Amino acid sequence: MNPSEVKKVKTLLSKPKNIVIVTHWSPDGDAIGSSLGLYNYLIKKKHQVTVITPNDYPSFLTWMKGNNKILDFQKKETAAKKSVAKADLIFCLDFNSLKRIDKLGDEVSKSSALKFIIDHHLQPEDFADYMLHSVAACSTCELIYDFINLMGDKKLLDKDIANCLYTGIMTDTGSFRFPSTTSKTHLILSDLIKAGAENADIHNRIYDDNTESRLKLLGYCLNEKLTVLKEYRTAFFALNANDLDRFNYRKGDTEGVVNYALSIAGIRFAVFFVERDGIVKVSFRSKGSFDVNKFARAHFSGGGHANAAGGMSELSLNKTIDKFVSLLKQYEKQLLSKK
Ligand code: 5GP
Ligand code: MN
Repeated sequence: MNPSEVKKVKTLLSKPKNIVIVTHWSPDGDAIGSSLGLYNYLIKKKHQVTVITPNDYPSFLTWMKGNNKILDFQKKETAAKKSVAKADLIFCLDFNSLKRIDKLGDEVSKSSALKFIIDHHLQPEDFADYMLHSVAACSTCELIYDFINLMGDKKLLDKDIANCLYTGIMTDTGSFRFPSTTSKTHLILSDLIKAGAENADIHNRIYDDNTESRLKLLGYCLNEKLTVLKEYRTAFFALNANDLDRFNYRKGDTEGVVNYALSIAGIRFAVFFVERDGIVKVSFRSKGSFDVNKFARAHFSGGGHANAAGGMSELSLNKTIDKFVSLLKQYEKQLLSKK
């Protein structure tokens, strides 16, 4: 956003508006944190605001202020469509392509509202009137903090906004450990804690909300479902639909499991395959220069960041794994490179 756009947006937001906030399919901590952080800020400025998610999200994300006002498009389609139809302004948070919001994408496309992308994923599509986009940002929550500052409203930061933004920064940086974490990130966190973010409690609410069966599923993955291909510095997990049933799978239960594969010494490419809702969902993570955004785009209809991306496959689980393993040869040089 250049200074003249900042001025225009400030003017736009100086009078009450109908605003819709949408975020990506299978919302994570940054998606919900940025959406509710922005929601709590905008309602303080007297706007009418509706947050819409394309589908459901894990229960460990349901404690943030405003959560009970979120419309899940799959459950509240009529109400969600109505809100989009009457919106003056639509904020698209934490995604770079309308494909990422499923059927909600058609509603957003046909709406005449002004559209605003706030995001940090690579290669954003060109569908918005305004964009606050930076791949250098550790999270969309960091960009919401910047946005509030650009609007000259830092004084409006309060405990509720700060709790939401802290959550997204924490989850998208793997608790402040990924290379996307900068001194700026820590300065923002400091401001958020000053504004009332309950940092220690937030860690408990997000990470210590496990059910017994989730932990057992993790144990099962580690013990029986891990394949290490040392020759490619690659490791992966694969779960089928029966595995999920056996461990009473609930949304979010496999989040983060892929990182265990990446934690093995020498491994720089980690993948998690899970057979769910009739397709295979794939999570990719890497260390160093191996670009999983490119890999996911090229072979698994997906995308994301250079070191964290996702995608899908319509092949069976076994065929998906075969396809994946047979691709590794052509990436051998990059996987084994020192960088
Ligand atoms: P996860 O593996 O945790 O689902 O996603 C990792 C990152 O990749 C996140 O930033 C997420 O938004 C992005 N991502 C996940 N799945 C997809 C996908 O199918 N397409 C695109 N473009 N990005 C994805
Ligand atoms: Mn994010």
